[in-house]
Amino acid sequence: MSDPNDYTVGWISASSIEATAAAAFLDDMHENLSSKARGDHNTYILGRIGQHNVAIAVLPDGEPGIAAAADVASDMLLTFRNVRIGVLVGIGGGAPSSVNDIRLGDVVVSSNDNEHGGHGGVFQYDYGKTIQEQEFRYTGHLNRPPRALRTAVTAVRSRHQLRGPQIKEKVQAIISTNRHLEKSFRSPDPRTDRLYKSSVVHPPNTRRPCWEVCGDGFAKVVQREERSGSAEGPAVHYGLIASANQEMRDALLRDKFFEEKGVLCFEREAAGLMNSFPCLVIRGICDYADTHRNKDWQAYAALTAAAYAKDLLSQVVPDQVEAERPAKPSAGPPPSGDNNHIGNISQPTDTPHPGATSQPGGTSHHGGASHPVETTSLVAITNLAAIASPAAFPNPVAFTTPAVHLQPAASHTQDVPASPLPGSIRAQSIKKESDTSSRKKSTPRFCETRPASK
Ligand SMILES: [Zn+2]
Repeated sequence: MSDPNDYTVGWISASSIEATAAAAFLDDMHENLSSKARGDHNTYILGRIGQHNVAIAVLPDGEPGIAAAADVASDMLLTFRNVRIGVLVGIGGGAPSSVNDIRLGDVVVSSNDNEHGGHGGVFQYDYGKTIQEQEFRYTGHLNRPPRALRTAVTAVRSRHQLRGPQIKEKVQAIISTNRHLEKSFRSPDPRTDRLYKSSVVHPPNTRRPCWEVCGDGFAKVVQREERSGSAEGPAVHYGLIASANQEMRDALLRDKFFEEKGVLCFEREAAGLMNSFPCLVIRGICDYADTHRNKDWQAYAALTAAAYAKDLLSQVVPDQVEAERPAKPSAGPPPSGDNNHIGNISQPTDTPHPGATSQPGGTSHHGGASHPVETTSLVAITNLAAIASPAAFPNPVAFTTPAVHLQPAASHTQDVPASPLPGSIRAQSIKKESDTSSRKKSTPRFCETRPASK
């Protein structure tokens, strides 16, 4: 039986597909725990990657979302008291643009982006304030990943620039070793990677596939050069990941978030973790966050993300992990996405977050995590309801960059120009998921899928 004190890396998956991908990249798989801490409802896959013992936990099937992710991470930290660094690895919706040639199967890694206010590489876009006759204000920010992971990202980027990410080869090697993965996890035909122009909407209430109802002609699909040779994917992109309880399925809103905030990817769990579970977010792109969503690329994208995560962890030496403070279970619920809610998000003022301990040099600790909190923050004041005409992609020069109004946190009490569109910017096109904060603890959390031992 395995001793939980031997594990220093936590790995969170949001689905059984993602957990399978994670397990496939373990160098060794360990026995189950002899016991878990009281209150820990997770089931784990345990193993080794390089020099690190890794505990993999997954969200309950059918319960994605910020609150569920926070619950799983918090439970993990009850049992694994020595977990110091974490990764959230899985799939997400990409935000391709004339600047970022994001394709299905590519990997997006959360990266610090002060220019757009994404201090932790993650931006929660359903967290803020709705004020009468004012535009929706995004407030707060999320913590940065631990230093050991940020340093490793730098090393991985340099190596990839020199030799290429080689993710395709790593994924193929895993599939070759685990032949039963081939049917579900192999790379789909690249010709099925269609990026529809943002104005093209998949007909609602139909199960018919895109090629049948949306077509693939020049008029509807963005024409992109075929990747080949050294430019062959999957590629890795670094930047801001947008997180919310809602699923993003709106190409126009997606484009707007790229233009105003530089968002590269949308997902639904990271915002629940960043301030209580020191982690890096790694997402394999399985769709384009539009109405043309299908599941064909999900398994492969889960594998490409896991391949990057293993690459990253292999760059981290145990001494760096030991230098991080162990994370501790969250004391309170995560932000639910409700407006004006004060959860784990750092407030954009000098007021310490409840439970945070002020540190010399302007840092504070959340739940014992050692990563510093930025002392200055920006509040993006945007009006995403005021989406102009469709920002189609076919011609890169057709991209327009609307004005982005960023104000320093200190200006919170100042008047801001009244918006002609009062109320929340929450677009009707975002599908609101049920609140997962009250999920039943008795729900089975994980259906283990273990690949054959390697
Ligand atoms: Zn379609």
